Order: sequence, then C-alpha cells, then structure tokens
Amino acid sequence: MLFLDELPEFGHSLLETLRQPLEDKVITISRAQGSVTFPANFILVGAMNPCPCGYYGDPFRRCTCPAGLVSRYQRRISGPFIDRVDIFIEVPHIDYEKLADNRLGEKSDKVQERANAARLIQHQRFQGTKLSCNADMMPTEVREFCQAEESAQSLLKAAMKQLYLSARAFHRILKLARTIADLENAGIIKAHHLAEAVQYRPRQTV
Ligand SMILES: [Zn+2]
Repeated sequence: MLFLDELPEFGHSLLETLRQPLEDKVITISRAQGSVTFPANFILVGAMNPCPCGYYGDPFRRCTCPAGLVSRYQRRISGPFIDRVDIFIEVPHIDYEKLADNRLGEKSDKVQERANAARLIQHQRFQGTKLSCNADMMPTEVREFCQAEESAQSLLKAAMKQLYLSARAFHRILKLARTIADLENAGIIKAHHLAEAVQYRPRQTV
C-alpha cells in the first residue's frame, strides 16, 4: 500500500506519473542506456484537505483561502488521475456528541470475516485466469461477471448522465458494485449495491 498524505502537495506532475502504475501495475523507467520495467502493483491511499486552510465547505468555520486558491489547489489532482481512483470518501467535521459516544461499532474481526468471504468468492470466480480480485477485471470480464438487475441498470444509466461519468468510471462503478454484492454474497448486482458504488464517485469540486 502506498499512502500519500496531503495528496495535492506532491504536485501535478509527480501524481501524473502514477497513472501508468495505477493502470498497468508496472512502472517503466527510461534512461539514456535504455528502459527497464518493474512490477508496481499497489493500493494507493491518499488524503487531502478540501483547501489549504482546511475549512472549505465546513458548516462551522469559514474558509480563509483567497479567491481562486481553492480551485487551483483542487486542480492539482487531474481528472484522469481521479478517474483511476475507485473510492472517494468525504470526512466531515465530527462533533462532540459523536466523539464522546461510548457505544461500540461493529468489531473488526466480524468485518474481516466478511472481507475474507468476499475474497474467497473472487478467488473462485477468477480461478484459472491471471486475475485475483474484482479490481483486476478488464471490460470483457466486467461484461461477464458484473450482471446487474434491471433497476440497477437504469440507476447506472441515470448516474452516467447526471455525473458525466467516463467509460473508465462506468467500469469502476460496476467493479465496485460487484465487490459490494460479494460482501453480501449476492449473485447478481442489485440497485442498492450500485447506488452505494455511485456514492463513492467524487462530488463536484469547485
Ligand atoms: Zn480554505
């Protein structure tokens, strides 16, 4: 796993060089003597603030960034880069009541059991192929394994139009919906699986 904290601080050109390994899981280094290709299969995790001061869109504190800076900051992450990311999650301000709440959430070992079961389904699905998990699927496999019920299909059609999604994002949503369905041990992708996957696309930025 590669974790990049303060993602925009790495700068546009460095982040763009990650596009090849994210897509092909290899990285090619070219020098005068020739070029060498190395394996580079990793999970990329990035964290960023909504703006340099950190308060853009916050319901309680005012963003103090000068006009234009917020969009310049967010534009360091290009559209093609965003297209290659599976899951976007906004982490809003947490208030006192939530922090002081002593109720426990679901135990991690329960979540792990669910994840292991979903991994096993994928292992069986891709037996005899070079693929190991849903994220590895190419469009041919997406067509074969990401069958969605009719209501899920119309939901995806509406999302494609409303969010102006690219072909790459379309396949990503289907692969993610496949994983969400696997976590419920569901054979066919249902509308609520797809709705959850669509939620993980980025919202409109500034
Ligand atoms: Zn700000």
